[in-house]
This record gives sequence, structure tokens and C-alpha cells, in this order.
Amino acid sequence: MEKSGKELKVSAIKNGTVLDHIPANQLFEVITILGLRECPNQITFGMNLDSKLLGKKAIIKVADRFFEETQINKVALVAPEAKINIIKDFEVVEKKVLRVPDQIIGIVKCANPKCITNHQPITTKFETKHENGVLKLHCHYCEKDTSSDNLKIITEN
Ligand SMILES: [Zn+2]
Repeated sequence: MEKSGKELKVSAIKNGTVLDHIPANQLFEVITILGLRECPNQITFGMNLDSKLLGKKAIIKVADRFFEETQINKVALVAPEAKINIIKDFEVVEKKVLRVPDQIIGIVKCANPKCITNHQPITTKFETKHENGVLKLHCHYCEKDTSSDNLKIITEN
């Protein structure tokens, strides 16, 4: 195993996925988005690590798990700067940059209290768009926008 300073911490799992540069206050949202509460794999968290970019950051390492692109891209909703490293045999074999999906189904609550999705068991559905550099989710049902800074992640139970 290569012990090259910075990469060492990141590649400390043999195989799996490392999500780095998560804002520390979004760690639990990322866990929810990826369904890690129900994940039987070995998961390691680091929280409140120092980051030049974010101040405090979190890191998640999931052993023996490789996520679908559509699933991992949803992390961009709460952690747009997150870096995804795919680890094989302790080496980073691939780095992924997240891209906000065009459409978000479920996961996020509509910010409009009058929206039907907040009153009936209907799965939320949004189109994503950027307005003045701010990510907004346009609700398919009430046509109101939920901006990324007051975005609420739906927790299943
Ligand atoms: Zn709505």
C-alpha cells in the first residue's frame, strides 16, 4: 500500500467508494440520500475534519459498494463540491465529479406548505435549474421553486 501523505486517509479501504469534501453539516443528509442507514456494508465516517475549501468537512467511506451514477449524483443537491473516489485494491482508480440531475424524484420535500405532496402520500418530483448561480428545484405539482438553501431531505421513517 502506497503511503503517500494525503491519499492515505482517503484510500484506507480496500475496495469501495469514498465521498470527500462533504460540508460537515450535510453529512446526515448525504447518508439519507444514499440510503446508508440500511446499508449492511462497513461504513466509516469522519466529521469536522479541516478543509481549506469548506472550513469543516465530512468524509464517508463505504466498503465494497459502488453507486449508480444516478444515485450518487443526488448527493450534489446538498454537497455540490463533494468528490467521489472509487477505490480498488487501496488505490483510487476513478474520481467522479458530481452533476446535479435534471430531475429529482422523491428525496426532497417541497418548500410550499400548501403543496399537495405535503398533504398526500405523493412522491415529490422536481426539475432542477440554476438561477443566478443558485440551484432551484421546480415542483412538478405546485410549480413553486424550492431553493437549495432551504432544501429539506425526506427521511423515510
Ligand atoms: Zn410543490
